[in-house]
Amino acid sequence: MSGIATMQKCGDSSPNLAQAIDQSTGDYVGRFAPSPTGPLHAGSLVAAVASYLDAKAHRGRWLLRIEDIDEARTVPGAAEDIIATLAAFGMQPDGDIVWQSRRKALYEAAFDKLGHHVFACACTRKEIADSRVALAADGAAIYPGTCRAGLPAGKAARAWRLRVPGSEAGAGDGGIDGAKDGAKDDAADDIHFHDRWQGDIHENLARSVGDFVLRRADGFWAYQLAVVVDDAEQQVTDVVRGADLLESTARQIYLQRLLQLPTPRYLHVPVVANALGEKLSKQTGATALDLAHPVRELIRAARRLDLAVDDDTSTLEDFWAAALPLWQARFGGC
Ligand SMILES: [Zn+2]
Repeated sequence: MSGIATMQKCGDSSPNLAQAIDQSTGDYVGRFAPSPTGPLHAGSLVAAVASYLDAKAHRGRWLLRIEDIDEARTVPGAAEDIIATLAAFGMQPDGDIVWQSRRKALYEAAFDKLGHHVFACACTRKEIADSRVALAADGAAIYPGTCRAGLPAGKAARAWRLRVPGSEAGAGDGGIDGAKDGAKDDAADDIHFHDRWQGDIHENLARSVGDFVLRRADGFWAYQLAVVVDDAEQQVTDVVRGADLLESTARQIYLQRLLQLPTPRYLHVPVVANALGEKLSKQTGATALDLAHPVRELIRAARRLDLAVDDDTSTLEDFWAAALPLWQARFGGC
């Protein structure tokens, strides 16, 4: 699964966007997977541009998946708005758009497959916070393991969690077989992967998140499960997304292993931050994209990816023709 292996299959080495679109080799499948919680903004545009360029640089397919699995956060009309904005910026998905809210049967089937790796949890958010075990990377409390050995008497299941080996007291007797093909000294909860932008990443799941939720108390499937199922079902080879999802990657790789699904390659682009260093979102002051000047917005997004596209680029076609070789020079392709 190295980048070199994919690149060798790509054919001649003088790309332009029209060729890249016409001569898809089918070896590379990428995707952009926005959550429809609002319109596309400067931060999400950067992730869209990066995933699109990487797919086209490898003469691959670029899929669009609407991650509307968290229906409580979905804003009506936002998905349609995002799709229209991407089209206005020259990014057309290859193939049908996939909607997570319509794929619940797939998530249910994967959940059923996990069998004894999953356990019912009766804990409220407050009970977990009050346990003060430790804080996870994202600021959430690490699950203290209260319901691991069964629900406490008189309590009903609220959520379903995935057992992470090493999270229990006296780690090592977990009875999990997730690392059965790995070396004995490489614990199943130690996840290593190479990120094409961020470099080598190591995360210990027990220390960083503990047993994590797959089915939420409100009945919705957790993002982590849906993403893993969808990436495999859509045969995604390369995940290119914002670095805010870097800390989700180890959980996703662990789930891939348990479900015996392939692990894609990863590339996490830097997150666009506001002046206070907060990730740009509607809540932290992201302004709407200027749809009257898409090329200007694209040039700005490219700069955030360290791609120096000339300021005087005036058409969408010229932008993509300029950005593609710049991306390729840095991240490979064909
Ligand atoms: Zn619990």
